[in-house]
Amino acid sequence: MAAPSTPVVPVAAPIAIDSTTSDVPIEETALATSPSSPTLSGSKLASTSRIILTTYPKQIGINPFPMNWGAQDPAERGPIVVSRASSTIRRRNAIGAHGGSYSIYYALAVASQQLNAEHRPDFTNTEPAVNVGPFPQWYDKKKIVAMDPWGHIPQTLFKDVMDKENVDIRPTIAITKAHMRLPELEESVRLGRLVPDGKVCLNDKGELAVTKFAVEPVWYLPGVAERFGIDEGTLRRSLFEHTGGSYPELITRGDIKVFLPPIGGLTVYCFGDPAKMSDASVRLALRIHDECNGSDVFCSDICTCRPYLIYGIEEAVKEAQQGGSGVVIYFRKEGRALGEVTKYRTIQPFTGSSCCGKVVYNARKRGEDRASDYFKRTENIAGVKDMRFQALMPDILHWLGITKIDRMLSMSNMKYDAIVGQGIPIHERVELPEEWIPADSRVEIDAKINAGYFTTGHRMTTAELEAVQGRSWEE
Ligand SMILES: [Zn+2]
Repeated sequence: MAAPSTPVVPVAAPIAIDSTTSDVPIEETALATSPSSPTLSGSKLASTSRIILTTYPKQIGINPFPMNWGAQDPAERGPIVVSRASSTIRRRNAIGAHGGSYSIYYALAVASQQLNAEHRPDFTNTEPAVNVGPFPQWYDKKKIVAMDPWGHIPQTLFKDVMDKENVDIRPTIAITKAHMRLPELEESVRLGRLVPDGKVCLNDKGELAVTKFAVEPVWYLPGVAERFGIDEGTLRRSLFEHTGGSYPELITRGDIKVFLPPIGGLTVYCFGDPAKMSDASVRLALRIHDECNGSDVFCSDICTCRPYLIYGIEEAVKEAQQGGSGVVIYFRKEGRALGEVTKYRTIQPFTGSSCCGKVVYNARKRGEDRASDYFKRTENIAGVKDMRFQALMPDILHWLGITKIDRMLSMSNMKYDAIVGQGIPIHERVELPEEWIPADSRVEIDAKINAGYFTTGHRMTTAELEAVQGRSWEE
């Protein structure tokens, strides 16, 4: 007897989008759960007994909220609706889930019956701590493609529809105020580099007053595709394939243009009056920092990440104290967005931290840790040098109303090119001062400078780079 053949789906890429439709009502296409499956009805799990695997644009019952990305009037733009709650699933105009990578923990909480899938947030007293915008950049569909410019106040903008139609709409941005203390800044005050003013730097402990903005990614797929110079179908197909087929609507719902990807977001740390970020008449100091947990939090000395982060904060505070604005933006893009596992394979465990640039640490330390081999090792192991994709990074600057940067506290040519490419001029680039560079991170910084990072100092030749070597595991 012949084995049952597996249906083969043609894989010609890119797929055509917007061509798949179905007249079958959404209920009819839902798969019945098998007898061995746990019953879903009547529990906290979900209110439907059948699993809706995917939907189609013209399916009966499908009625997405209009989404007019870039429209000036938020009512015309429409809310971001991504929830699969029973009252909302037919109205969705976005694919994915809230919470970025934390959406999986949400699923676990529901599966373990610690969270009712129909739970709705209580938005009382959750309004932003400060006002921001709206700015003209919010209405430019080419300037903001990777976050929802109205994501801080949907519960206010769309309260009517939430109340009347019981639609589940949630914020993707939160704004709060806090104090922060860093041991290095206490030292800065002690050494007289930083002088407490009682407003930004509060006291001799170096305690700082800060306004924080947390942002989850919301991608407008045509705009994201355009930033990368690819077509939307190729982007959708790749996102579908390389997330284990997790989001079939990327393929079946060409009419839905918004995707909330399962990745980390960003946090803005603003020193001084937040209104000054968009005030072109005052100076702005800015650091864009990509996550390096090993250095940022655990102070490993193999890279310059924490030193540059602290230096960026100190310089941002000084700019704010002088009547300007100081901003540090922290992106969750661990290890050049390759992740710590890939990073550690290139790193040295004793002195090692992960770094945004420290690719291939094990490989580096088992051989000779030479600056000249730094990027090559990364590329050999990860297949690419870098997956941070700075092309989407400037969106947050547009959202904050930033139109120029007086002091860019970064040597990265990729960040510089992305920002200037988005029409935001950078007047001065500020290197990490020599005395802030840990001895064992010389390999990293010299390799980066050789590869094009900004410096006013010496750019080593490849021959000179070969002489720069880090510690081995035994040292
Ligand atoms: Zn690092």
